Amino acid sequence: MLHIEQLAVLSDNYVYLLRDAASGTVGVVDPAEPEPVVAALARLGWPLHWILNTHHHPDHVGGNEALIEATGCKVVGPRADAARIPGISLALGEGEEFALGESKARVFDVPGHTRGHIAFWFAEAKALFCGDTLFALGCGRLFEGTPTQMWDSLSRLKALPGDTRVFCAHEYTQSNGRFALAMEPGNAALQARMREVDGRRAASQPTVPSTLAEEWATNPFLRPDSPELQATLALTGHGMVEVFAATRARKDTFRG
Ligand code: ZN
Ligand code: FE
Repeated sequence: MLHIEQLAVLSDNYVYLLRDAASGTVGVVDPAEPEPVVAALARLGWPLHWILNTHHHPDHVGGNEALIEATGCKVVGPRADAARIPGISLALGEGEEFALGESKARVFDVPGHTRGHIAFWFAEAKALFCGDTLFALGCGRLFEGTPTQMWDSLSRLKALPGDTRVFCAHEYTQSNGRFALAMEPGNAALQARMREVDGRRAASQPTVPSTLAEEWATNPFLRPDSPELQATLALTGHGMVEVFAATRARKDTFRG
């Protein structure tokens, strides 16, 4: 069993504390800053053994050095970007396994947002930690990769089971959803989801995690095959990469 604690830090980041119940091994995913992690560990009475980094951006690795100093923990991160991960001790890539005690995660290489971005999939726990690749109702910006790379990355995450919980690294859902509705105004599942998202945000509650099945039905970046999305973009009948690329480009300049 994998116990997951969700921490909201900085303006819109989520940091996740993971505890493998069988072994008592504890990890933290993308510690943006050290203080809230140290405070949460103290509150829970948990040690810290591992930092799991998805990519090199400061709002994901900002806590590495202080947490290593405070706890002696190790760092697992992307092999393709090992030089940019502070304190990295274990570099992994596509298809490799990371063991947090007895909880096993499969690693995916998911370049696009950055050139070396990984995701951790804990199959038994039905939990995907995907950093800034797949967001609730959105996807990461293409800072260092191409639309082809990002679509390939998202396609492989999309193929996981529908009951997979998507633990992304930011609370961007409401603004993502406004864009999604502009792309697919007739999507009833999206309309219903946005009512729920608006309600949760009005109550200061997280909208993360979602499930992959919800994303299949409502996230335009997983839906380049949607006739309505294609029509909005005037790309009816075009290929998946082309529709995805146009959706991403439209989002980059969208003002909702
Ligand atoms: Zn990032
Ligand atoms: Fe980020």
